[in-house]
Amino acid sequence: MEIQYRLNFEVYRRPFRTPLKTHHGLWSVREGLIVSLTDALGNTTRGEIAPLPWFGTETLAEAIAFCSDISGHLSSRKIQQIPNHLPACQFGFETATWPVNPELLSSILNPEKCCQLLTPQVEMQSQVLTFIKQGFRTFKLKIAVHNFTDELECCEQILAILPPDGKLRLDANGGLSLELAKRWGEWGDRQPQLEFLEQPLSPENFTQLLWLQNNFQTTIALDESVTNLENLVACYEQGWRGVFVIKAAIAGFPHRLKELCNTLDLDVVFSTVFETVVGRNALLHLASEVRHDRAFGMGGSHWFND
Ligand SMILES: [Mg+2]
Repeated sequence: MEIQYRLNFEVYRRPFRTPLKTHHGLWSVREGLIVSLTDALGNTTRGEIAPLPWFGTETLAEAIAFCSDISGHLSSRKIQQIPNHLPACQFGFETATWPVNPELLSSILNPEKCCQLLTPQVEMQSQVLTFIKQGFRTFKLKIAVHNFTDELECCEQILAILPPDGKLRLDANGGLSLELAKRWGEWGDRQPQLEFLEQPLSPENFTQLLWLQNNFQTTIALDESVTNLENLVACYEQGWRGVFVIKAAIAGFPHRLKELCNTLDLDVVFSTVFETVVGRNALLHLASEVRHDRAFGMGGSHWFND
């Protein structure tokens, strides 16, 4: 049945407390859109459009233009016709049609099910110990930012204080050379608490990524390689059976993503793109319908002041 909605949307702007430094550069403000859909009965539900242009999505300006062109009215059928070059809009609008289930969400957001991204500027061991006290067990560190030796030493400091059920994820954002990726792999093979090495090489080096996954004990995760459903399927078809990091908010229509994950039985990590609570709730709702047992890539509220 086709449902008619009235659309309202507003732009948000959240500065990071500390700008996020990755191999893609410095990210200082998270901007996006909250869309509100009101049906004929006056029920309003919300969705979030959180673009990440350097991951190949539409820009915020393109998302705003799309919402403005709708001129206030759209239908459920129109939502399913949003083109693939607007993946963040596909996610935001489809999830805006979902009912909210607060009970489900509070049960999922247990700290032990969330991976905590570590801030490089803060003293590492005291930071990790604080999070451990709060119940976190999985941690993530960005690498390929400083030199190999310093980053390796930092990882060893973290691993030294992890409890037995603690895990560390390393994310290179595609920034390593094959040579350095091998050194991380060799080191990782001796670290039982290293959960995975994420996107050591850039997506165009798929063959080498596959080689790393097949030649080291260290699990390799793809992130930048699998930013949308098309390239996710392509990696799977070319033999990828390592981890898929899924940024659902930029991966297009969630019903398609869900079907794909469950049909292919993918080993997935659901990851945040620093959405607000609106997008995060939608992500959790989606994740609850997909088989997966790795910690969520989220728990990043300490990155914002609000
Ligand atoms: Mg990543």
